[in-house]
Amino acid sequence: MEKQELLYEGKAKKLYKTSESDVIWVEYLNQATALNGKKKDLIKGKGSLNNQITSLVFRMLTEAGVPNHFKKKLSETEQLIEAMTMFPLEVVLRNVSAGSFSKRFDVKEGTPLAKPIIEFYLKDDKLDDPMMNEDHIQLLGLATAKEIKEIKKMTLEVNKVLQKLFKEIDIQLVDFKLEFGKQADGTILLADEISPDTCRLWDVKTGEHLDKDVYRRDLGNLVPVYQEVFERLLKLESI
Ligand code: UDP
Repeated sequence: MEKQELLYEGKAKKLYKTSESDVIWVEYLNQATALNGKKKDLIKGKGSLNNQITSLVFRMLTEAGVPNHFKKKLSETEQLIEAMTMFPLEVVLRNVSAGSFSKRFDVKEGTPLAKPIIEFYLKDDKLDDPMMNEDHIQLLGLATAKEIKEIKKMTLEVNKVLQKLFKEIDIQLVDFKLEFGKQADGTILLADEISPDTCRLWDVKTGEHLDKDVYRRDLGNLVPVYQEVFERLLKLESI
């Protein structure tokens, strides 16, 4: 497999074409951003940790039967994924109140939610990723009612699998963001990344933030925190 021209450069990843039309070569970058790119820093070691964490998590999701785009980890910072048409949506699931939910509805951070809730956001930096509902998604032709139903079902399934995995390593899964894509035959696959950049992870014993809030809220150095998550996940692998 050969890395070819750059397809897309995002805030934390570069995507390249390969010699196979259905395979994309992903390179994880050391860049950290928050506040829709307004806060930006180069953090050595971040790309490698996120690539390794997300590779592990996607492998575990595959074992648990969640269809996804992950093919292979190539190196510390690179992986191969399936090329798909992406839904321009960010799908957020929340088990506990935090972040924008706490702010928007004035619910104290850390308040458990009676059941997991799902929110949709339009992936559009220039519009600041506005929240949207299922009618908006259908009206704008971003996904059909059937596709939305499938995406919600898969999101709840990912939550079940991840909650259980993280619990075993003393981590509470507070909330997370997923992205989905569609293969040529219409099959929906989980895509993008699952890492401390895209999840809120709290240490069960200390309540410590083991995620990007360390960076967003200037709580300290992100690298040892992500390293801790990676090492705990590795322990899980050897169980
Ligand atoms: N999230 C993400 N990318 C985004 C926005 C949110 O990965 O562009 C994740 C975030 O890490 C958290 C969850 O989605 O785990 C919910 O984020 P929230 O809406 O509370 O937003 P924030 O506090 O980041 O403004």
